[in-house]
Amino acid sequence: GSRVSRLRSSWFGVTGISADNRALLGVFGGTFDPVHRGHVAVACALMRALPLSRIVFVPAARPPHRPTPFADAHHRLAMLRLALAGDPRFDIDEVEYEREGPSYMVDTLATLRARHGRPLALILGADAFAGLPAWHRWRRILGLAHIIIVSRPGFDDRLPEWVRPRLVRCGADLLDADHGRALRFTASARPESATALRQALADGIAPEAWLPPGVPAYIEAHGLYRRSSHHDEG
Ligand code: ATP
Repeated sequence: GSRVSRLRSSWFGVTGISADNRALLGVFGGTFDPVHRGHVAVACALMRALPLSRIVFVPAARPPHRPTPFADAHHRLAMLRLALAGDPRFDIDEVEYEREGPSYMVDTLATLRARHGRPLALILGADAFAGLPAWHRWRRILGLAHIIIVSRPGFDDRLPEWVRPRLVRCGADLLDADHGRALRFTASARPESATALRQALADGIAPEAWLPPGVPAYIEAHGLYRRSSHHDEG
């Protein structure tokens, strides 16, 4: 495949990204309010199936497109640490905690590219993907990263017209370009949702089966998601 590899090296030459290590860095942004087993299961499935070197979880400090999170940023980060428990396949990057102002994904991706020097694949659940065209400078996002669209129960799997020319068939196809391609990924369906979890916790139910080990005890110890501890949705 000399033509392909030459094309590849010229791609990576142009972008300054080393051709030696072509695996992609997965970027899993979210509010993680709280992190749940669905997040971790999706990340494990992606690591198994796709040419990703690692997945970096990026908790949003001040998500611009949704209400203020219920749990403070440092609690959401602590729960994420418990959930990932030092697994070498996963990292947490606090890049959005280091910036002032709204946590725009486009800024995060620019920082991560500079920091890690390799192509990125942004992981989006079907609901997050549906909202992408409302994100700040969303077209630029496709100039910085590939996107992986993960199916999610209860959310429409049909894809909009604009994404079709970008679709590739399998994970390896993502390696032929530096950014701008889209891959659909159908993981085994995960019913977990942070909204449903917060509701259950507020009702005094601790849905341990949906929470990674250590997280229920943390929520309990810090009195998170109780009805009386709710912030304004403002
Ligand atoms: P909320 O109910 O507060 O919106 P959430 O459960 O969607 O929370 P987020 O932290 O907002 O959790 O999600 C981060 C990313 O993980 C998003 O791209 C979201 O689509 C994806 N995601 C979350 N839960 C699932 C799931 N069960 N299956 C597939 N993707 C998921």
